[in-house]
Amino acid sequence: MSTNYICSKCEKKHTPESLVFKCDCGGMLDLEEFSIDFSEKSINKEEWSLFRYIKALPFSSEFTLWKDISMGEGMTPIVPLDKENPNLLVKLDYLMPTMSFKDRGAAVLIAKAKELGVKKVIQDSSGNAGTSVAAYANRAGIDCDIYVPENTSPKKIKQIASHGAKVHVVPGNREDTGRAALSAVERGEGFYASHVYNPFFYQGTKTYAYEIYEQLKGEIPEALIIPVGNGTLVLGAYYGFKDLLKLGLIEKLPKIIAVQSQYCAPIYEAFVENKNYTIEVKNTGTLAEGIAIADPKRGGQILEAIRDTSGEIILAPEDDILKTRDDLALKGFYIEPTTASTFAGYFKYVRETGFNPSGKVIIPLCGSGLKSEL
Ligand SMILES: *Cc1c(COP(=O)(O)O)cnc(C)c1O
Ligand SMILES: [Zn+2]
Repeated sequence: MSTNYICSKCEKKHTPESLVFKCDCGGMLDLEEFSIDFSEKSINKEEWSLFRYIKALPFSSEFTLWKDISMGEGMTPIVPLDKENPNLLVKLDYLMPTMSFKDRGAAVLIAKAKELGVKKVIQDSSGNAGTSVAAYANRAGIDCDIYVPENTSPKKIKQIASHGAKVHVVPGNREDTGRAALSAVERGEGFYASHVYNPFFYQGTKTYAYEIYEQLKGEIPEALIIPVGNGTLVLGAYYGFKDLLKLGLIEKLPKIIAVQSQYCAPIYEAFVENKNYTIEVKNTGTLAEGIAIADPKRGGQILEAIRDTSGEIILAPEDDILKTRDDLALKGFYIEPTTASTFAGYFKYVRETGFNPSGKVIIPLCGSGLKSEL
């Protein structure tokens, strides 16, 4: 039996077998609560992928399809940024099969799509999520159409096509791309394997938290610095740590400090205005293409997650992005500009507020520098 979807607005339940991607009322779908086993012996220590946590994922015990789909995603190292800052840690999520953290979500989502008997998926993305979905779909024997905005890095477009997907380059901005994919879904062209809409994606990204818990041997980081566009990693990290809290394995949630681009910051604006919903902004152009989301569909949930952890939202200074990217490369980490923006935002925050953590701070290296032309 599948774990059901539940509407975040009206609480109506839907089965995943219905292949719906949102509620009739327009609400975003979440997953109903299901039982999670995270005991020491429930973790399959012989499995070197995020599927070592299969007992904490919404699959039945007979579910084995993931074995044909997994490419060893997850299990990324955590190391200090440099020796001067032993408590400032980076998690190398660009060390994944398609070189971004999106593989966490895509592996779980496509495993579920395969279980549902889906023959073709449709997805829209600013690049990395599309690449992940394309790679996993093809591996699973599922046809795949990916929609990207016209300003997407050519390398990302080439990577998506190389994984066997059909790429639709859509004129206009990221929101126009979303609308183009949605109308294909509404015309019945395929299953909407959206990292934004489909709640199974977040079941994959929550393993970011599980791994931190295992790697730090239960020590709770003081803060997680996380870039936020659509919030798949913010929400995943939040859900993962909340699971651990509910199970009594940790006593409190780490503070989530989310980072937005200074030129596309709907969640930041809602946060400082104390709103619990976001309003579409105009993206005025940023090198941080991975977080340039003007109208995040789960804005309210992202705001709630950040507030629940006593966290905050900060802005990445555009002018510091390339310099920060170069500085990180000199420390050995070759990252894409969106990831550099997370660091630029955090360093500015430390300079301006004197933030001086006594515990560990973790920043993800979300995407590889090889994906960018800059
Ligand atoms: C997708 C992505 C982000 C932002 O993730 P959201 O789920 O949109 O919040 C940040 N950095 C990189 C490299 C990404 O691919
Ligand atoms: Zn509803």
